[in-house]
Amino acid sequence: MNCPYCGYNDSKVIDSRDVNDGIRRRRQCLQCDLRFTTYERLQHASLFVIKKDGRREEFNREKLLTGIRKACEKRPLPAGTPDRLADDIEIELYQMGKAEIHSDAIGDVVMARLKKLDHIAYIRFASVYREFEDITMLKEEVDSLAGHSLAPPADQIPLFPMEELPVQLKAPRRPRQLR
Ligand SMILES: [Zn+2]
Repeated sequence: MNCPYCGYNDSKVIDSRDVNDGIRRRRQCLQCDLRFTTYERLQHASLFVIKKDGRREEFNREKLLTGIRKACEKRPLPAGTPDRLADDIEIELYQMGKAEIHSDAIGDVVMARLKKLDHIAYIRFASVYREFEDITMLKEEVDSLAGHSLAPPADQIPLFPMEELPVQLKAPRRPRQLR
C-alpha cells in the first residue's frame, strides 16, 4: 500500500479495529509520517458518494476530515477531535452496508455529530453544507440551537443588563456557586 501523500511504499500500522465485516487500519507513512486509513475486507465494493449533481465519486476520508477540521478550527475541543470524529463517521457510513450513499446523508451524519459536540462547529459546518441562502436561515438555525442550549455560564457577562430585558426573558436567578 503506497502512501497517498508521497507514494512511499512502506507504512506502519498504528491502530487496527474490526469494523463490520472487515478490518480498518490506521497507518503512518515511514517516510513523510502522514497518516492514512486502509480497509481490508472480502468482496466488498468500495463506498461511492452520489453528489448533488448526480456524479459519483469514491468516498474520501480526507475530504470529510477537511470539512470537519474547518468547522472545528480554534474551538476549545480536545486535540485529535476532528480525526476521531472522521473515524467514527467513516465507520458509521461503512456499517450502513451500502455501495453508494448520497452526499446529503453524509452531511446529515456529520451535522448530527457536531451538534452534540460544539454548536459553533455545527453552525459553521451547516452554513457551508446547507448553503444558507440568507442570514434569516442562518438565524433560524442558531435560534433552534439556542432553544435547547443551557443558560450561559454564571461568570459570562450578559449582553444586556437584565433590567432592560422584557420580563419573560429574564433567566431565573441562579444561586452563587461556592468555589
Ligand atoms: Zn508518505
